[in-house]
Amino acid sequence: MKDKIKLDKGDITRLDCDCIVNAANETLLGGGGVDGAIHRAAGPGLLEECRGLGGCRTGEAKITKGYDLKAKYVIHTVGPVYSGKVSDEEMLSACYRNSLELAKANGIHSIAFPAISTGVYGYPLEKAVPAAVKTVTGWLEDNKDYDITVIFSCFDDRTYTEYNNVI
Ligand code: ADP
Repeated sequence: MKDKIKLDKGDITRLDCDCIVNAANETLLGGGGVDGAIHRAAGPGLLEECRGLGGCRTGEAKITKGYDLKAKYVIHTVGPVYSGKVSDEEMLSACYRNSLELAKANGIHSIAFPAISTGVYGYPLEKAVPAAVKTVTGWLEDNKDYDITVIFSCFDDRTYTEYNNVI
């Protein structure tokens, strides 16, 4: 299982994989953080396609093309705004699970996730990272027959260290 999970340090938009995941907001019309970086790197075609999607609920995921990115696809998912309730983890896990299901349905074999909700949405890293790893590992276990590499994109040292410790 472990050989299917990789860590990368740096900007997710430079990754050469089938798909990168965007930690979007419910409008899907762009924002700050990783969302802004993905839209800038992908170019205006991405926003245009996103306009036609009608937004996305928290925990759900939608797919678009990657436009000027190296990645062929972007999966947009909306993480929970951290509130300290049990539902936070359920929603965060749903983001990872629904993104992976959508990836599989689209024949994606490599996918990179940012640390969803751990920026502006305020989810503590030491809670979000174990939840992300547990959900992804569980999904890979349930989908052993499907060939896919999952990359956890870590934008800073703190995030990288947290993933490295948990994995
Ligand atoms: P959210 O609103 O879901 O919290 P943010 O974009 O604010 O989303 O932050 C999510 C995570 O993405 C944070 O760990 C942040 O450091 C990271 N991040 C920001 N820019 C990038 C980038 N270009 N590549 C990868 N990760 C990024």
